[in-house]
Amino acid sequence: MAPLTNGKVPKSTKMHSKVVIIGSGPAGHTAAVYLARANINPVLFEGFMANGFAAGGQLTTTTDVENYPGFPSGILGPELMDKFREQSIRFGTQIITETVSKIDLSARPFRYWREGEEHDEAETADAIIIATGASAKRLGLKGEVTYWQSGISACAVCDGAVPIFRNQPLAVIGGGDSAAEEATYLTKYGSHVYVLVRRSELRASKIMAKRLMNHPKITILWNTVATECQGDGDLLNNLRIKNVVTGEERDLPVRGLFYAIGHEPATSLVRSQLQTDLDGYIITVPGTTQTSVKGVFAAGDVQDKRYRQAITSAGSGCMAALEAERLIAEEEGSEEA
Ligand code: FAD
Ligand code: NAP
Repeated sequence: MAPLTNGKVPKSTKMHSKVVIIGSGPAGHTAAVYLARANINPVLFEGFMANGFAAGGQLTTTTDVENYPGFPSGILGPELMDKFREQSIRFGTQIITETVSKIDLSARPFRYWREGEEHDEAETADAIIIATGASAKRLGLKGEVTYWQSGISACAVCDGAVPIFRNQPLAVIGGGDSAAEEATYLTKYGSHVYVLVRRSELRASKIMAKRLMNHPKITILWNTVATECQGDGDLLNNLRIKNVVTGEERDLPVRGLFYAIGHEPATSLVRSQLQTDLDGYIITVPGTTQTSVKGVFAAGDVQDKRYRQAITSAGSGCMAALEAERLIAEEEGSEEA
């Protein structure tokens, strides 16, 4: 069957699929490539600005990706995601440029609806892979939009090594494990790293907190929040910061600002139907992508609050595909027996 891209299946022919993948980042597309090569004919909903992202996911919002293996000179985020998509299509994945807005996981086959078609008859799938991703929380500071990705980032591992941050003073906002990890990582590149903590204590685990507090290139600014991001119009060069106890405001000249105030997994679709943790991340059986509902698998950032990288997302997308394929093969085998 020729791959249907950007397509709509007419309302009169509601689809049933063996596997439906919801989400179009590295996890979703990797799952698609594996399933398509296994002749499962997967259907991938890539979303239409779902969760605020264009089809292709978070990497469509960045420039150079330098840590995805196989691209020794780096590759632009949108270009990398175009290649993922191309590879999914090459093996026969049916890609639909719509958002899945409603889902019923209470019985198999699972039922789901596209945005705007919630009152129509449902489409169905024997297995579903949730790969809807996550988004970094932002603060909404004055100047944030101007300098986002021009000095401000939410991923030190992704962006820390870029030349504009080399040997420059940098700041991290947050007091959790991510802030501790990101600040420590950034000491490899920046001249000094300031960590803005809004309270007088860290949320980070003891070991991470100790590492942070004892690092010679890190200064923690307690009870401190940022109030404005300033720059030359192109790049960030200053933060206005405020001590919330004394009310004192001052400048903190930095060239980089990294948010580490948590992420929001895109789980509103399934939150009441799958087991999630307190932050809303889908819980999977350790070492697998199986969720609390048999036949539903979760891959990528939507189930990973720790690594949140393209390569780890792709890896779990592969796992989800292999697990879905195995389940379907077992079930088809027992039907035939
Ligand atoms: P995502 O990339 O989050 O994509 C999910 C997709 O699913 C989105 O397009 C969304 O619109 C769609 N979707 C959501 N809900 C629905 C729905 N209901 N129906 C249909 N579609 C839906 N990682 C690296 O390894 N290296 C880097 O250099 C790097 N740089 C980054 C730079 C930035 C600015 C950001 C934000 C992240 C960066 N990351 C990087 C992290 C990386 O992008 C993520 O770890 C990875 O994209 C997560 O992949 P994912 O497949 O889980 O989903
Ligand atoms: P987190 O634990 O929720 O911490 C978020 C931090 O950001 C907190 O210090 C919080 O302050 C601060 N914050 C939130 N909103 C803020 C705002 N508007 N202004 C200023 N500060 C704000 O998130 P995380 O650090 O990303 O960690 C998420 C989970 O992943 C945790 O379970 C963590 O243990 C885990 N993790 C583990 C590792 C590791 O073990 N290596 C690494 C990374 C993450 P308050 O404390 O005042 O609320």
